Amino acid sequence: RNLRKHYTSPKRWLRPAKPSIQAVDGVSFNVARGETLSLVGESGCGKTTTAKSVMRLVEPTSGSVELEGQELLSLSAEDMRMRRRDLQIIFQDPYASLNPRLTAGDIVAEPLRNFGMGASAERRERVQWLFSRVGLRPEAVKKFPHEFSGGQRQRLGIARALALNPKLIVCDEPVSALDVSVQAQVVNLLMDLQAEFGIAYLFVAHDLAVVRHISHRVAVMYLGHIVEIADRDTLFSAPLHPYTEILLSAVPVPNPRTPARRMLLQGDPPSPANPPSGCRFHTRCPMAQAVCKEKAPELGERPSSSANGSHLVACHFR
Ligand code: SF4
Repeated sequence: RNLRKHYTSPKRWLRPAKPSIQAVDGVSFNVARGETLSLVGESGCGKTTTAKSVMRLVEPTSGSVELEGQELLSLSAEDMRMRRRDLQIIFQDPYASLNPRLTAGDIVAEPLRNFGMGASAERRERVQWLFSRVGLRPEAVKKFPHEFSGGQRQRLGIARALALNPKLIVCDEPVSALDVSVQAQVVNLLMDLQAEFGIAYLFVAHDLAVVRHISHRVAVMYLGHIVEIADRDTLFSAPLHPYTEILLSAVPVPNPRTPARRMLLQGDPPSPANPPSGCRFHTRCPMAQAVCKEKAPELGERPSSSANGSHLVACHFR
């Protein structure tokens, strides 16, 4: 709720002019058990910082993060470490996130060891089971990360994230470093595991085809704010915020008979160190009017075309 992460510039001479970089500025959302909420937006919009703030991998400047009713930001380092059993992450680069000096079996067993779960025989058994669940052969436990393909390494990252039976997994661009042919396998594996274990995913991505496939709901971010949240079908078929419309119009249409409705985003994103007044999108919005420079729109409920829940939009005219 109302999550903020502002970075102060380490360059002292910049401080008077640019007091902080507002990477995330007042973001609120919820993710239900067994649900996938995707965060989408341009590079630098704050989606990864938001996801890492939820896990306290970066410490939020202010706000609140609750897991099953427990406030996480006020927990001591030790209590937070224990609560991390329920919060796991899958990183974008499966190679960089695996210790090259450990065998695959040791990598997946590491969280079990860290939390003192089971005797070593039980841990070995659980590792074997996790390998089978993510589609890795049992003998792969003895291999090192460099002996796996990119897709297999990401399966290893998924097995490690699953080891402690988490409630929520943050998926930080988990397939964008993989070949297209492997992406679908990994995404489908994540969906199968969610159906089996009821895990919630906070899914950070910029590939809208992947987002459309995996998400139940989608939140669109622009310059540190959420500008629209809706269930997947509503967002893709009837977006309301001008930024979402432009973002979706960039998705290629495979049917040549369907007229392309390409809308171009003008200019570069403004700096989060000096965001525009009023609506942060007004410098690039084709619908902007005088009020947009003066007054920031609230993220508010709109009548939804779907029975699947609410449709929230931050725009004065939508
Ligand atoms: Fe565009 Fe104004 Fe709506 Fe912002 S509030 S998205 S500038 S029309």
